[in-house]
Formats: sequence, structure tokens, C-alpha cells
Amino acid sequence: MKVFKFGGASINSFERIKNLSWILQHHKEEKILIVISAMGKMTNTLEKIAEEYFEGKSDEALLLFESVKSQHLSLVKYLFTFEWKKATNDLEGLFAKTEDLLKTHPKKEYNFYYDQIVSVGELLSSSLISNYLREEKMPNSWVDVRKVIKTDSNYRDVKIDWELSELMILKEVEPIFNETNFVITQGFIGSDGENNCTTLGREGSDYTAAVFAKILKAESATIWKDVDGVMNGDPREFPDAIVLENLNYKEVIEMAYYGAQVIHPKTIKPLQNENIPLYVKSFINPQLPGTSITGEKTGKLPPIIVYKRDQALITLESIDFTFVEGEPINKLHRILDSLRLKPNLTQNTAISLLICVDDIPEKTAQIALDASDIFLVQIRKNLTLLTIRHHTPEIIEKLTKDKKIVLQQITTETIQLLISND
Ligand code: ADP
Ligand code: ASP
Ligand code: MG
Repeated sequence: MKVFKFGGASINSFERIKNLSWILQHHKEEKILIVISAMGKMTNTLEKIAEEYFEGKSDEALLLFESVKSQHLSLVKYLFTFEWKKATNDLEGLFAKTEDLLKTHPKKEYNFYYDQIVSVGELLSSSLISNYLREEKMPNSWVDVRKVIKTDSNYRDVKIDWELSELMILKEVEPIFNETNFVITQGFIGSDGENNCTTLGREGSDYTAAVFAKILKAESATIWKDVDGVMNGDPREFPDAIVLENLNYKEVIEMAYYGAQVIHPKTIKPLQNENIPLYVKSFINPQLPGTSITGEKTGKLPPIIVYKRDQALITLESIDFTFVEGEPINKLHRILDSLRLKPNLTQNTAISLLICVDDIPEKTAQIALDASDIFLVQIRKNLTLLTIRHHTPEIIEKLTKDKKIVLQQITTETIQLLISND
């Protein structure tokens, strides 16, 4: 069996949903577990709804939820002839549960409500797609992923309970393939020990696909994107970017870790561990080869460019001249862990530490506050982190000409440059 994942961009209009069904028509003899994200930018809208609800603005939240409802219902109008009643009823059942919650007063922490509200995006889109495939005479089974992807309760950024999820997936999902070729489920979401909804972190649907692929020992996983494959730069920023047809796991995990948006960084490990190939293919041009990611060595690669914007550089200097190695560094890591931040670049000298992090203003301020008992803290904002893999003098020159470089780190494979935008 195979795993396919369709992201938000591949289902953001009725033409795109038709296109998805057309792609699946070509695979209808195969057994495929299909992971679906929320439509388009639905998760962003749902995040706004969660914020309004939590601020006590229930009416505003419900009003905004009307737009979520109408976007899904209008697709039903365009897509369905036979199955519209079931499609509508299924959506309405899901709407009602969210609306019931939005009418209550929040009593728990924000992240809990975030997960309960935002998760409906994937439930709605996957329900719509499942019914549409039925409409198009492609039998399939819709699985509520919350039954099988079990997680801890660290809402918004949960860890998967691999043992329990494996047990559940093998018990609940694998046997379905004896009856039908397509199983449709949701990316990004799961549930905890109390069966509350949880989410795996933004853009986490790729990771869900990898989790299913590993547990079901899939022959491959394919992520369908609006680009022709993984390229040596984001084509939105580099119109000359080229598709890299063969990459290995190591290259992609490094790219994703440094911020290449095309694949979620957690996706690679489960696939690498079982040696499952990952294909990145275009849903617009499915006849193109796309990118194949395996454990094989690749030939020489061109420079690969990744930008990570909105960075802050925090300089921490030990107040009493204690060397930073040891406890001061450990303390900094504890602070970062508690804020669920990871440094994107670090450097240290005898008595100072430099870390570059995503600039989430409350978190950046919190680091400064928590570290101020042993460090003198300075913060510099409005920075961009440029990472170039397989760098050449020409590409460094081209991308840094007339730029103010604040920090630089170089190895034979990778150069990272922190650039000031001021
Ligand atoms: P999804 O619909 O699966 O959520 P995303 O929008 O998250 O898809 O990811 C696809 C986008 O990633 C592309 O539209 C492209 O602009 C961007 N991207 C960033 N870096 C790369 C890269 N190196 N190769 C291809 N696409 C990239
Ligand atoms: N819908 C979620 C998000 O937008 C998950 C995903 O698309 O991967 O973050
Ligand atoms: Mg995405």
C-alpha cells in the first residue's frame, strides 16, 4: 500500500478538488491511505476564531465561523449531484460540534481550545473529499484520525505515542484495506488520553503521512504540491529555481530544518527509519517526475537556498565572567524548551552566547527576562537567516552583495548568514 498526502493548496477550490479526484482515478486499483489537510488557508481562519472565542468574543467567533461553513457548503453545491445530502449532513454534524463549543465560556488554557477548534478544518475537508470520491464512483472509507493517532496533552505541539498509535492503526485501519482501496483520513490532528483533540504543530500533515507510512510499512509516501517538486530555492522568491529530481533523506531533513517550507521537518525521520521513499509531486502537472527522496547517495547538487525571516539575535553575556559552557548553556536550553523554541543558529565565546530564534515577540522578551539573572542580555530584531547548502563563492557573493551581515557560520557543506533588514 501507499500513502498520499494532499495539502491545503490542492483542495482550495472546486476545480482543484476535481483535479484531486482525477489524480486518484489513475490510482484506483491501488491501496492508498490518503491524508488530507484543511482547505486553503482555513487553519489561519480557525486560529482567528480560537483567539476570539478565548477573548470572550463568542459572537465574533461564531460570525467568522459562518464563513468557514459557507465555504464548505458552497463547494457541496458545485461538486455534488447524487451525494449532496450525505455530504451536507456530514458537514453540518461537524459544524454543530464546533458551534456548541463556541457558545460556551472558556475555562481551560488557550492551547486546549486552540486544538479543539482548529482541528475541525481537517475533519471538514476530509469529509467533503471522501463524499466527493464516492460521488465520483470511487469507494472509500473515512477514518477519524483521532481514534488512531494518539498523543500526549501538550496541546498545539503534541508528541505522538508511537506504541499506542501503532496498535490502533494496525487494529482499526489496516483491516479496512481488505474491503476498500482508499482510506481517507486527516493530517495534523490526533487525540490525547482523554480523547480531546490535539494538533501536531502547523503544517503537520506531512508528518501524519509519514507516521502512517511507517506504521503501515507503506511502499512509498507521496506529497502532492503546487510546485513541480523540491527545488533549490522557493520558486516564489527565485523564479530560476530548478527541480531537484533525486535527493536523499539527509539533504531534505537539513533543508526542512533550516526552514524550507516545502516539507515539514519531522516528516523525514519515520520514512528514513523504514527506508520508505518519499515522492514530492505536482498536483498541477502529475505527469512530471517530481522529486524522489531516498537513502541513496545523490550526485553533485547545485547550491540550495533557504530563507527564514523574522529572526531575532539574542546575545547573552555572563555577568560575573563565568564561562558559558556547562550550566549557563544548560540554563538557556531549559528556557528555550519551556518556550518550545529551538535555536536556528548558535555561537559561543568564553563568556557569551549568541542565539538566533524565530522572533515571536512575547517569547523573545521572555527569554531576556528569564536569562537576566546570570546574563547581560541584548536583542537585535528584524533579521533574516539565509542558509545555503553546497555553497559556492559566486552564490554567496550574489546573495550577500550590499547586505549587512550580523553573524556568519560556515562548514564545507553549509553557510548560514544572519542578515539585517534595517
Ligand atoms: P501544502 O499545500 O502541502 O501545505 P505548502 O504551501 O506548505 O504546501 O508548500 C508548498 C510551497 O512551498 C510552494 O508553493 C513553494 O512556494 C514553497 N517552497 C518553499 N521552498 C521550496 C522549495 N525548496 N522547493 C519547492 N517549494 C518550496
Ligand atoms: N492545516 C494545517 C496547517 O495549515 C496542517 C497542514 O496543512 O499541514 O498548518
Ligand atoms: Mg502547508
